[in-house]
Amino acid sequence: MVAASLTKDKIKESIVNHLHCTLGTDENKANNHAWWKATCAAINEQVLEQLRKTQKTHYFNDTRAVHYFSAEYLMGRLMSNNLHNLGMFDATEQALHELGINLTDVMEGEPDMALGNGGLGRLAACYIDSLATMELPALGYGLHYEHGLFRQEIQNGAQIERPDSWRDYGNPWEICRPESIQEIPLYGYVETKYGHDGRIQKEWHPGLIVKGLPWDIPIVGYGGNTVNVLRLWESQASDYFNWDVFNAGGYLDAHAENVKAETISKVLYPNDETHAGKELRLIQQYFFCACSLKDIIRRYKRAHGDDWSRFVDQVVIQLNDTHPAIAIPELMRILVDRAEMDWDKAWNITTKVFAYTNHTLLPEALEKWSVRLMEHVLPRHLEIIYEINQRFMDEVDARWPNNPGIKSKLSIIEEGGEKMVRMGHLSVIGSYAVNGVAEIHSKLVKEDLFPEFNEIWPTKFTNVTNGITPRRWLKACNPELSKLIDSKIGDDWPLHLDKLRELGKYADDPAFQEQFMGIKRQNKVALADEVMKLTGIEISPDAIFDIQIKRLHEYKRQHLNLLHIMALYKRLLENPGYDMHPRVFLFGAKAAPGYKLAKDIIYAINKVAEKVNNDTRVNHKLKVVFLPNYRVSLAEKMIPAADVSQQISTAGKEASGTGNMKLALNGAITLGTLDGANIEIAEEVGDENIFIFGNTVEQVNELWANGYNPYDYYYKNPEIKAVLDWLESDYFTPGKPGALASIKHSLLEHGDAYLALADFESYSEANKAVDKLYRDKKAWAKAAIINTANMGKFTSDRCIAEYVDKIWRLKPCNVD
Ligand SMILES: *Cc1c(COP(=O)(O)O)cnc(C)c1O
Repeated sequence: MVAASLTKDKIKESIVNHLHCTLGTDENKANNHAWWKATCAAINEQVLEQLRKTQKTHYFNDTRAVHYFSAEYLMGRLMSNNLHNLGMFDATEQALHELGINLTDVMEGEPDMALGNGGLGRLAACYIDSLATMELPALGYGLHYEHGLFRQEIQNGAQIERPDSWRDYGNPWEICRPESIQEIPLYGYVETKYGHDGRIQKEWHPGLIVKGLPWDIPIVGYGGNTVNVLRLWESQASDYFNWDVFNAGGYLDAHAENVKAETISKVLYPNDETHAGKELRLIQQYFFCACSLKDIIRRYKRAHGDDWSRFVDQVVIQLNDTHPAIAIPELMRILVDRAEMDWDKAWNITTKVFAYTNHTLLPEALEKWSVRLMEHVLPRHLEIIYEINQRFMDEVDARWPNNPGIKSKLSIIEEGGEKMVRMGHLSVIGSYAVNGVAEIHSKLVKEDLFPEFNEIWPTKFTNVTNGITPRRWLKACNPELSKLIDSKIGDDWPLHLDKLRELGKYADDPAFQEQFMGIKRQNKVALADEVMKLTGIEISPDAIFDIQIKRLHEYKRQHLNLLHIMALYKRLLENPGYDMHPRVFLFGAKAAPGYKLAKDIIYAINKVAEKVNNDTRVNHKLKVVFLPNYRVSLAEKMIPAADVSQQISTAGKEASGTGNMKLALNGAITLGTLDGANIEIAEEVGDENIFIFGNTVEQVNELWANGYNPYDYYYKNPEIKAVLDWLESDYFTPGKPGALASIKHSLLEHGDAYLALADFESYSEANKAVDKLYRDKKAWAKAAIINTANMGKFTSDRCIAEYVDKIWRLKPCNVD
């Protein structure tokens, strides 16, 4: 621990000094914001010192580094994380306490950095935490969105989107680096020239040049030695280019170009698992990739000049999904057009630099850009993509002669309707490694999504099951449980999460069970207070806290959860003595603003909640809570209080899931399908300690092959019929019959694409098993402890170790 030796008195002195000298206020006048900023400034003294040492050490050792390219980073708040990773948490808490200030209140004032939608962005955040912790040379690259994911309000049950302005009070964690600005071309046309040696030369004459201004967020590893950076690019108007227009008398045109340039990093697209195909989004992707590549090459040239021969030894670029796939033709452009390298040599370098992580099999999420749009925005890149494709098609022809079917299937260019560029194909062809994010998902990537690519390059495909950082998702978010664990097995589990397995020997120990469940109850009391504050709904900590938190999507099946809640409600109305332990169903979920049915499901959850919570016939046994504005900081409050973790996606649809890992780590028992990492969680905890239900991937395929008909279930199961008909009535929306009918229609007329009805009965039975186990306090406590004890596999440190071993070939570099 680098900073652990920093005393409470020194921290106190530094905070007061920053209040006075940085913020121009004092202890008596300072508001919560000022205390937050002064505390950040005190922490930054440590952070920036280690950042400087890390950069010097990496430079001095000329280390190979991984460059993580991601359009999203869902960082959440940084203060608690940085304090824990620096080993300064307790001393800072005491220092503030002596100043009459509560650290928790200060931390609560920090806005979330919500520069991501959900799992993919949070994964990037966990990975950069692990990279720094494991002292690996790494840079994260992404976009400095002015507005992160929208803030969700609920009005009369419906989601309303409000802008997120996370930097309104400034961001004390970031450093602006104007000395590293990059200029990025867009639009225009390509000129073909012939060089003196007869070689064809392509010259791109851009129609617009924009500037990329880097902001560096220091990423503090646990232990505080290595501090890597997350470099996020902000777009700005390029002065000289626009001055030309200005001087030519086009003031308004110049201004319009400024607006265009500055729009690029304005907003995060709020779509999760859908591809919209919007021009600005393509520009965002190209903008941050081009800035990042220039940055990487500048750094490489500082050490190696124009000698490209060592580039592949120094640089590996991990593409977090296909969002940064345009970096592949961009590197080719730099090598072929700018460095005047032969195509084959350039391709040999490029395909040794990139590795690609696939995150989804959902057809609507697979990125494809129209050729027309790409030609307009990136004319030279389109040419390069065509060239890559032509050469690849020749290989396909050699392997499968006279087989136009296979050629059209494998081509980067999709023909038929409007011609499209398939970014997944480009990523596989341009990368030396392709990984899925859970065993089952990687198997489906190989067998269903890219079977022929796997035949051509069998060793290219691999799996790295996702993980989460235990520093944020146990130590920081659940301090009481963490202290209990420390007292039993020592305090190095945040670095060696497998050690949690030693807790297994206390699973049957009545005293430990009582302590473990006592902490769970305390966390439930705290969440109940928060629920009261946020919604005015009273919930009892004696009830089962059953939690489903994740983006709202039909494949994640929040509507299956809702149908079951309605069935419970109906059972209680028909039989007031219906035997069930009191249960609170809690939801947190944002819907993409354009995803109508997802918003309808949020509305339906809220309307059912309103009815149930106010129905005195049932509300001592059943409550439903929808917490608005689900985000990292809310997850940190909900997860430690969960008894049940709902992970109920249609088998084959959830690539991995990481919420499932966070909840199980905090002692929640999973109620889930055999999908994504649920399968591996079940392997770790054993079948007795998880509630598995529903059709498997094989059974799902069989259902579709046999002509799945949701009406069969509607007519066969009276409970299904009753709740679906109930949705169409005005029971939950008095005076507005049909307000919830779209959900019924999606499940019947529109074919129930995610098989909610096919899994309902099995889900209902699994829920009965949950209820039964919970009433056996000891059996539940044992299962909960076993869940925490067996989550070692899911530390993101294990993932990073696998990436290093299978893909990156990196060595740690000791700083200090
Ligand atoms: C972990 C996390 C997710 C991902 O949850 P899944 O259940 O895996 O979809 C989404 N949003 C936030 C805020 C998270 O912390």
